[in-house]
Amino acid sequence: MKKIATLFFLTFTFTMIFGPVFPVLAAANVVIPDSLQELDLSNQLEVYVDENHLTDKEILRKSGEFVPLPALDPSGDISDTVYWLKVNLANPSGEKRNLLLEIKKPHLSSVTLYALKGNRLQEEETMGYRYPFDKRDYKHRNLVFSVNLEEKTTTTYFLKIETDSFFQAPVSLWDPIAFSEANYMNQSIHGIFYGIMLAMIVYNTFLFLSLKEKSYLYYILFVSGFTMMQAIWDGFAFQFIWGDFPWWALRSNSFFIIWTSLFALLFAKHFLQLKEHSPILHKVISFFNVMCALCLVLPFFVNIGTMTMISTLMATGFVLFLVGIAVTVRLKTREAKFYLTAWSLLFIGVLLNILAAFQLLPLTDFTLYAPKVGIVFEVLVLSLGLADRIKRIRKEKAYETKKYYVHTLLQHAVNRMTEMEDLTSLSKEGLHCLMDITHFEKGFYLTKERTRWKVLSKVNVTENLEDFYIDQFKSFQNGSSGILDASTFTVPVSSRSHTGCFVIWSSQEEVDLSIMESFLPAFIEQFSALVAQKEYLDELKKSARVDDLTNLLNRKYFLEKVNDMYTGAEPSSLLLIDIDHFKSINDRYGHLIGDEAIIFATDLIKKVFHEKGIVGRFGGEEFIVFLKNVEEHEALEWTHQLLDVFREEGLKLRDGTFIYLTISIGFCSSQPANLLSIDEMIQRADEQLYQAKRNGRDQVAVCS
Ligand code: GH3
Ligand code: MG
Ligand code: MG
Repeated sequence: MKKIATLFFLTFTFTMIFGPVFPVLAAANVVIPDSLQELDLSNQLEVYVDENHLTDKEILRKSGEFVPLPALDPSGDISDTVYWLKVNLANPSGEKRNLLLEIKKPHLSSVTLYALKGNRLQEEETMGYRYPFDKRDYKHRNLVFSVNLEEKTTTTYFLKIETDSFFQAPVSLWDPIAFSEANYMNQSIHGIFYGIMLAMIVYNTFLFLSLKEKSYLYYILFVSGFTMMQAIWDGFAFQFIWGDFPWWALRSNSFFIIWTSLFALLFAKHFLQLKEHSPILHKVISFFNVMCALCLVLPFFVNIGTMTMISTLMATGFVLFLVGIAVTVRLKTREAKFYLTAWSLLFIGVLLNILAAFQLLPLTDFTLYAPKVGIVFEVLVLSLGLADRIKRIRKEKAYETKKYYVHTLLQHAVNRMTEMEDLTSLSKEGLHCLMDITHFEKGFYLTKERTRWKVLSKVNVTENLEDFYIDQFKSFQNGSSGILDASTFTVPVSSRSHTGCFVIWSSQEEVDLSIMESFLPAFIEQFSALVAQKEYLDELKKSARVDDLTNLLNRKYFLEKVNDMYTGAEPSSLLLIDIDHFKSINDRYGHLIGDEAIIFATDLIKKVFHEKGIVGRFGGEEFIVFLKNVEEHEALEWTHQLLDVFREEGLKLRDGTFIYLTISIGFCSSQPANLLSIDEMIQRADEQLYQAKRNGRDQVAVCS
């Protein structure tokens, strides 16, 4: 990442803006001061770009063609070009100086230091990735040569550099003690960095093993690759891991760049759920990933220069995809926020470092190590993001499980409620269901009858509800469900002709009602449907039992009911009532008035026998009354009252005139001592009715 960003910056910005204004320095002697700590030679070096692989003798003839190093296009290119660097080191002191020359880029394939002795080059030492690490005199991750300067002399040094990757040569001259001090600090900081990275890898590996979540695997593989890349660029990989395998050392860089791009993208795809949020980008990245996976084997076959090119392309592709992700997914999801924050932190780190490299910011320890700090923060934030995601997924899963459980519960409740005959038991089942789900202990169900609320059913309630609900539950009349106080929950229900409200409450202080969100609408819907169904059934039943015109029980249902309630153990009476000369009413006033007259007669009969007995319509203008547990004389008394009522009250017509009806009644009683069945009583009453008619109507005939 750092390398790619550097490359971009170097090629585009640097050459355009800063390149042309570099001073061309003359090849002067670099005078070594007595108080030397570190001396940056980058600006003092001269370079000769050797395309023809000259020998050390031939290069001496090119001495005049060396140019100052800063004038060289710093991006270089990947070819088998050899770079020759030249510097004159002057030791004016009277003592011999043993110094160190450090090349701070460890990735160079082969670097040879020559000292010009007389008129020929004397090879001091050769090192680089092509040679085993152990062969180095000074065992350091960077390329460190000893330079011994005789007193009061100037020596010209040549560095022959071959690279299979990009040419970079930040060269410093060190006092050995200063070097070892700086090195100590440097190693410590790297130690902390690699320690944190390793810890993150191990920690997340444990998480992966226990959670079996794929994102973790990709994260681990990505972070491992990324750490390895850093170790390669820092030279530690060669120093500690594959110093004996120059073949692999030269190829490892490309391999791990591709590896890191591959798993960073796999991680991004999985972590950001790109398939959902950006299907096209997902497809393109998937294709790119397949290419990455195929390219992973290339370093083993293709030459190193080409491989460096391919891996750089892959890395560039990766950076473009990062930008693509930032543009398409933006901050839409929580994961995206974590992801973009993470990469931004790394980007800031790299940017600080680059700005410092071009002296736009002071080069301090912080700006020097900013990319490493950026990486640490990136990796930490991504790990946090993963943990956050897992936590949320688990929560959602738990919620789904609970939801499933709650809906099963609802299903059972609905099954039970369906079996309930009436609204009271139906609402009681509803209460049980709500209480099961919320674990609330008490509850009741209210219905609104005209303007008054009344308690229809209750569960575990011992309080006096009259005081309780009137004060407390005025608010549910506005129809919103929710919590009235800390632990009271109301669920209003309404259907065509029914308004009701569940009230449940708990003595617990804190209750988790989050699940109700998904449950309540379904519950209310089901319950309302059942209420409506019950209402419909009730109407249907009623219409099967009740006579349309008079609203009295019809003959069939009257007989059913009376037979059910009659035991014969108590004195009972039965009346058959027939309106006299009714045909003539129809004939004279028409059928509509006739109907009104029947309703009028019904009212009069109900007026006398209301709550005393059961009244039914027996036929056209015939009525039947059953009086249970009433002494005969009392029943007869009421019968005479009825006759009187008919004589006194008339049906008022629209024109103000009155129709007066009379009735004939057949009366029969049953005593425990002289038991009659209902059928027998009807038959005898019918005979008596006939008798009453024959006797001149407007009277009762009593069966003896
Ligand atoms: P009686 O005193 O002998 O009972 O003479 P009546 O005219 O009442 O004779 P009856 O009981 O045989 O006649 C019943 C008549 O009542 C026949 C029918 O036209 C009429 N009727 C029966 N049901 C209805 C009804 O629902 N509406 C109207 N308008 N007339 C009815
Ligand atoms: Mg009749
Ligand atoms: Mg009649």
